[in-house]
Amino acid sequence: MAAQRVPAVKGTRDVLPIDTYKKADDPWVRTGHFHLVEDAARSLFPLYGYREARTPILERTDLFARGIGEVTDIVSKEMYTFDDHDVRVSMRPEGTASLVRAYVEHAVQAAEPDSKWWYLGPMFRRERQQRGRYRQFTQVGVEAFGSPGPRIDAEQIEMLDRWLRALGVPFEMHVNTLGDAACRPKYREALQEFLRARAAELCEECRKRTETNPIRVLDCKNPGCQKVASEAPKMQEFLCDACRAHFDGLREGLARLGVGHVVDARLVRGLDYYTRTAYEAIATSGLGAQSTVAGGGRYDGLVRELGGGDVPGVGFAAGIERLALLAARAGSEKASRPVLFIAPLGPAEEARADELAQRLRAAGIAAEVSFRRSSPGNQLKRADALGARYALVLGEQELASGKARLKELATGAQHDVELDSLEAALRGRP
Ligand code: ATP
Ligand code: MG
Repeated sequence: MAAQRVPAVKGTRDVLPIDTYKKADDPWVRTGHFHLVEDAARSLFPLYGYREARTPILERTDLFARGIGEVTDIVSKEMYTFDDHDVRVSMRPEGTASLVRAYVEHAVQAAEPDSKWWYLGPMFRRERQQRGRYRQFTQVGVEAFGSPGPRIDAEQIEMLDRWLRALGVPFEMHVNTLGDAACRPKYREALQEFLRARAAELCEECRKRTETNPIRVLDCKNPGCQKVASEAPKMQEFLCDACRAHFDGLREGLARLGVGHVVDARLVRGLDYYTRTAYEAIATSGLGAQSTVAGGGRYDGLVRELGGGDVPGVGFAAGIERLALLAARAGSEKASRPVLFIAPLGPAEEARADELAQRLRAAGIAAEVSFRRSSPGNQLKRADALGARYALVLGEQELASGKARLKELATGAQHDVELDSLEAALRGRP
């Protein structure tokens, strides 16, 4: 009798190189889809001067309480927190607070006036699991420290736009302004007053938010709350002169760089530290309710809040699972397939096949050898299943003559090659 299986933790997912299940409306996301999304970011972001930073998954809980805000859903109910002896720690629910901590801890401001960083890694939030919403998920994000904007805000939004376009994601870029410490409090008050008067139409959660985080009511998904939100006063009407000029500058910058966008007065970020610029890339099809693929904005007060200097910052974070799901839908992935599959027919041929494969790999050519003894016909089937470009059957005769036939699997064409110059023969073929 088989031993009892241990299932995966709820809200977590395995990503495998193969399809293990398929439903028409829910493609299985393979590693190759993640690679497509991640590799595109890895090659694009450095073109804009962003360099990779890696920070720990575990941080002091206090970092998130102060950096994200006690009243946010993330901090108040979604973090995985435990006591590590005398230190209360949490698994990071997002990346910005950690990057800012590292920025402050290593006195980066003193070493360079402007820093552009990007990161990639798992994040943890104890949310209700749905398609595109998991308890462990992956974010790619960027942070630019040191520039008050709005030119750098526009540059960053253009980079996000270029990345998503390169991936073929159907999306719309939404932008808004959240004001700053000078003008947002007045807006918050006006909004709160409005929401209190309409409390009867709000969901229970939003009645609470009206008192703790009224701006968050604007992006509640509940239809009743959405109706109220659409009639609520707008931040734009309350902007101080500096915030108005910043927002106008952002829109001019986006127009100059040719980034199509819509102004969305109800776009708010769930995190307390955002000021002025807020933006989101929203998929226009393929994701259903979980359609926000990336969210970003300016956080001019955060570095100071976490013990650093008066350093402005702007950044975004994108959800890789959602982008990989879109890539899977579109049928595009980064596949790694062998160039050559070698099928040896006996023990002496096996030894030669192992050496040939080693030589090819050393030359950067992906080669696989068969570890099973079977007929040449079956070996070719296996080469086909692996997606190899060429197959080579190695028998007594090939070993003796040092010559073999390279079979091109897609066309069936055969090419005579010398085993000693296999590498050159493969290189020479288009
Ligand atoms: P949402 O409204 O989708 O919950 P959010 O405002 O919580 O998003 P951020 O904290 O800004 O999102 O995170 C940026 C991106 O990370 C999101 O746009 C989304 O693509 C992704 N993301 C956030 N939470 C999850 C999750 N639980 N599972 C998968 N992806 C997520
Ligand atoms: Mg969320």
